[in-house]
Amino acid sequence: MSCSPAELKKKSDEFLSKWKDCKDHPGIDGFVEFAVAVSSFTEFLDAKGLPGLHQSARAVEQRVLSQFDRWKSDPLPGAQMDELDLEITEFSLRIQAFLDDNNDPNPERRLHQESEVINDLLPVNKIWLVTSVPESWKEVVTQAEFFNIQVEVCGPVYDQKATQDPTIVLVDANGLQPTAFIVRVQALRGRFPASSIIGVNLPSDFEGLKLALRVGCDFCFPIRTAQATVMARIVKLCGSEEEPPYRVLVVEDSKTASMLIQRTLKESGVESMAISKPQEVLTALASFQPDLVLMDMYLPGCTGVEVTRVIRQHEEFLSTPVVYLSADTSIALQVDALRLGGDHFLTKPFNPVVLNAVVKSKIDRYRILRRSMYLDSLTGLLNHTSSKQRVAAAVNTALAESTPLCVAMVDIDFFKRVNDTYGHPMGDQVIRSMAWLLKQRLRKTDSVGRYGGEEFLVVLPQAHADRAAELLDRIRVDFSQFYYPVKASSFACTFSCGIAQLTPGTSAQALVKHADEALYQAKHQGRNQIVVG
Ligand code: GH3
Ligand code: MG
Ligand code: MG
Ligand code: MG
Repeated sequence: MSCSPAELKKKSDEFLSKWKDCKDHPGIDGFVEFAVAVSSFTEFLDAKGLPGLHQSARAVEQRVLSQFDRWKSDPLPGAQMDELDLEITEFSLRIQAFLDDNNDPNPERRLHQESEVINDLLPVNKIWLVTSVPESWKEVVTQAEFFNIQVEVCGPVYDQKATQDPTIVLVDANGLQPTAFIVRVQALRGRFPASSIIGVNLPSDFEGLKLALRVGCDFCFPIRTAQATVMARIVKLCGSEEEPPYRVLVVEDSKTASMLIQRTLKESGVESMAISKPQEVLTALASFQPDLVLMDMYLPGCTGVEVTRVIRQHEEFLSTPVVYLSADTSIALQVDALRLGGDHFLTKPFNPVVLNAVVKSKIDRYRILRRSMYLDSLTGLLNHTSSKQRVAAAVNTALAESTPLCVAMVDIDFFKRVNDTYGHPMGDQVIRSMAWLLKQRLRKTDSVGRYGGEEFLVVLPQAHADRAAELLDRIRVDFSQFYYPVKASSFACTFSCGIAQLTPGTSAQALVKHADEALYQAKHQGRNQIVVG
């Protein structure tokens, strides 16, 4: 869980107080506000990595939203109100029980948010592996340890008292009857609201997967999925990367309308900026860097469609989603708007829950698209171009703020031999492991990119060379102990690393070159070592 119990309590209280308001003043306005609060709380639980509570919240949300049409005419009948009240009470009790279990936040978890000191390793993540065949998981258990993930293997009896809720519960269907697997997942879902549940070795048929997801699995891996794929998911779930807030640019000439839109977005955690003059749109896009534009249809001097066409003439905004909001519901207008560069059409007056859902789903897809542009597909790290841009940005900041900055160039030793001896796919696995390890061990403010084939560029703001060397040396030692299984045996790899610290007057390009020269020296001196240039 990446939120504190206090934060959860605050959010939950806000949600309950909106429900109280809604009951005290039955009517459409209070209900809409409550519906927005339910949606926002549901999203909050998802974003904070509380899958069990999120599932319960979604059920409540669906129930509330299904009343939307009914509530438009008159207050809900008492019986339905009572039913809703009962469901919400049960849900709030579930949250309270969870808070009671977590009222003494584990210091290891707090570290999760505060791991800003360079020498602090990331917190230990725990996994419960519920399996009848533990021997088949030996390699995963060993690999996980290198990513600070402790795997506790539980046999068929799995109700021992856990000192810390696991981040992930891995449920192995191997050797289980389908119904036994489902019962097991259900029990675990109830017990661990904050853990992600991964089902593995499932039959790949539609019904089996549907049922597993329905009873509480967050992810399912069908039988014969490579353990490396399962491992990649585990590492991702244990990572602490948080998505930045959604950002929306509102283009709307009516002050009242834009205030209403901005308020709705804010309630659901979306940051926004509003402009009323269409000619300001390009400057606003460049300065605010929104993930999406909400566009009014009729603006002073032009239409929203014309504004979108102008936006689309700029390469960098070609894929920024544009969603229209218009009181004019004519089909001809909607078709025209979508043909000429729009992504979606919503009518005014808008339903706030639908507005938020459309905005967020469009942004999610847009972000996935962008990610593929600047991330390396094998490792999920920054690609070559973005790594270089990151160094340039870090150099600018360090020079402007007079703070230290180091870059490190990491290169796997004798990597060609790995490919030649064990094959290219195994080479890829070694590259991925290197990437995971670097990502796991670095701070949120650091960045790491795949600079070339088996070469990585690490940017360490606020770090002096000796601290950077200390950190990378620890990673070096751990990496060298990482064993890759091949048939009956295994092998290990090492890396060499060159570090350069920024000095005034050095360009980003020169800094990378210095790190590269230090790396060359490390190779020359016998590899498997760190050299500070
Ligand atoms: P050194 O210790 O001097 O670094 O030796 P090396 O063998 O690691 O160095 P070299 O740069 O000669 O070899 C790198 C190899 O990495 C060559 C290339 O075939 C391989 N490679 C590059 N990209 C990939 C990739 O994406 N996957 C795999 N499996 N291999 C790759
Ligand atoms: Mg208008
Ligand atoms: Mg190499
Ligand atoms: Mg190389």
